[in-house]
This record gives sequence, structure tokens and C-alpha cells, in this order.
Amino acid sequence: MASFKAVVIEKTDGGQAAPAIRQFSESDLMDGDVTVRVTHSTVNYKDGLALTGTAPVIRRFPMIPGIDFAGTVEVSSHPDFKPGDAVVLNGWGTGETHLGAYAERSRVRGEWLVPLPAGLSAAEAMAIGTAGYTAMLCVLALERHGLAPDRGPAVVSGASGGVGSVAIALLAQAGWHVVASTGRPAEADYLKSLGAAEIIDRQELAGKGRPLGKERWAAGIDAVGSATLANMLSMTRYGGAVAACGLAGGMDLPASVAPFILRGVSLLGIDSVMAPKSLRIEAWRRLARDLDRSKLAAMTSTIPLAGVIDAGRDILDGRIRGRMVVEIG
Ligand code: NDP
Repeated sequence: MASFKAVVIEKTDGGQAAPAIRQFSESDLMDGDVTVRVTHSTVNYKDGLALTGTAPVIRRFPMIPGIDFAGTVEVSSHPDFKPGDAVVLNGWGTGETHLGAYAERSRVRGEWLVPLPAGLSAAEAMAIGTAGYTAMLCVLALERHGLAPDRGPAVVSGASGGVGSVAIALLAQAGWHVVASTGRPAEADYLKSLGAAEIIDRQELAGKGRPLGKERWAAGIDAVGSATLANMLSMTRYGGAVAACGLAGGMDLPASVAPFILRGVSLLGIDSVMAPKSLRIEAWRRLARDLDRSKLAAMTSTIPLAGVIDAGRDILDGRIRGRMVVEIG
């Protein structure tokens, strides 16, 4: 039986072992009707949690971590896919309950796959990755809410991270005046190059805020949660909305109802993992159409498969700027 190279995490008595690269037998892959030759993956915040065991992301052992990949179909009994098709996968429990992306092969359910959109390479799709696809889901949610750049500025928290970087590029491309909130003032030039019009220190959004603050923006994309999200809401203009997708600063939400009941502000929840296929296809189509490739290149670094082991800790420690592509194939 054939084997392939993979990053594997085993169970230990106290939790999980450190990730290690080893050969993995194809016969140990899980059920699925499509086998993909994985060529590229990436390191998202959730991958950092899984690789380090900081949160119980991994629900089965041994696990190949990695929540998203791009690659080429090798074997398929699914009617929508045939050998040679280029595909992308985000979420659906990959790298959590189902063997994941940091491997040369993955066997998955065909319904989880999205065809690689025309005009995007596999490497670009993983430069976008789940972080960038989630940023697009946030933009789509704000649009569905009827918000447009003529309503006022848009704020992005966790600006130097993966979700934040792609969100800034997408909002700027759509004509928004983008306010980028960051704890890394040294990245101001980087954030401006992506399209940020203003940089604010993330401390301005930290700590206990007032139930209602000065109305500063019409829309927001939040990757941080906790007090940051509460303060973003309290400073949102009448009728505006904040799309919340992340918890890099904490899972709690120390907010009041004042923005909702006195300003008609909306909180839009964003989940990428179980998002329906039609929404995924729309998000990937829009990413292929709207995301400036030179900005994508500027926010992306590339590492080999073995590099994910250290990258997991780095992303949790806030040492990664933008996006990281993992070259596998
Ligand atoms: P990154 O680590 O790349 O970015 C997170 C950014 O948040 C950091 O770069 C930093 O930005 C900021 N940050 C980190 N720690 C803190 C803190 N303690 N307080 C305030 N700000 C902080 O992660 P991603 O962009 O990949 O993911 C962002 C969040 O979105 C994560 O929580 C992730 O789990 C979540 N997510 C959710 C998805 C969903 O389906 N809902 C899908 C994808 C991601 P800066 O240095 O500029 O301040």
C-alpha cells in the first residue's frame, strides 16, 4: 500500500504529542469519495491552536492537522469531480475530526470541495486560505445588510493578521475608507499598502468602553472578539453593522445592548466551517474577481511542509504578518 508524507499528531495520556513529520499509509485515510493530491495549504489561527494543543481543536487521533488545502483530484467516484480537477477545501472539520491538509494526500467527501475558481492558482488560493475566504464572507454579509462605502468608514480589527489583511484589501478595493486597528504600529506602511486609510492603535478598542461611543464607522470586520468587538459596536453609526468572525483577543463579549436598541446596529455572525456550498462558491468567485493579486503577494510568505510545526506557535504569538502558504506537492 502506498504511503505519503504527512504532519501527524498522536494522542498522549495527558493530551496530544508534538506534531511530527512521518510517512502515513494511504490505507489509513478516512472515508471519502474523492482523493486529492494536496499541493498547497496554509497556517490559520485555528491551525496554530491545533498544532500546539492550546485549544481542543483536534477531536480524533492520530490527526493530520490543517483545515484547508488546494490540490488536484487523483481519484473520484463523486459525480462533480474527475481526476485532474483543481479543487479547494475549507473547513468541514478537516484537521479537527477528519484527517487534514498537512499531507501529500487527503481523502474527503466531494460535497466539501469547491472547484478552484478560474484565474486563481492553487498557491494563490492558499495565500487567501480560510482566513481570506472568511474575510470575504464578512464583506458579503455587510453587503447583504445593505452597507456601502457612502455610509461611512469601515473598521477592521486584527489588521495585520490573515483575516484583517485580506479584509482591508477587499474593502479598499470596493471603495471603503478603511480604518485598520493594530497592535503593531511598525506595520503601518504595510497596512497602508493594502489600502488602509487610517491606522489606529488597538488599545483604543481595548478595555471597558462606554455603552455608546462616538459614531466612528458604518461597518466593521472583527477578528478579535471580547472588548474589541464591544467597543467596535459601541462606535458604529446608526444602522451600521459589524461582522464578527474571530476570537484572537478572547471569546467573551462584554457589551451592552445600547448599540442595538438605540442605534439599530447589527452584529453579523460569520462561520466559515459549515457555511453552505452556494455561499462558498460565491465567496471564492468574488475573491478571484476582486482581490488585488499584487496586494495578495505582498501579504504572503511561503514555507515548506516542515515549517508548519514552528508556524503554529508563531501565529498564536502574533508574529505572523498577513498570510502564509505551505508548499506540499
Ligand atoms: P492571525 O493570527 O493571522 O490574526 C489575528 C490578529 O489579531 C493578529 O495579527 C493581531 O493583529 C490581532 N490580535 C492577536 N491577539 C490579540 C489580542 N490579544 N488582542 C487584540 N488583538 C489581537 O489570525 P487569523 O487572521 O487567521 O484569524 C483571526 C481570528 O479569526 C482567529 O480568532 C480565528 O480563529 C478566527 N477565524 C474564524 C473563522 C470563522 O469561521 N469564524 C475562520 C477564520 C478565522 P494586530 O497585530 O494587527 O493587532
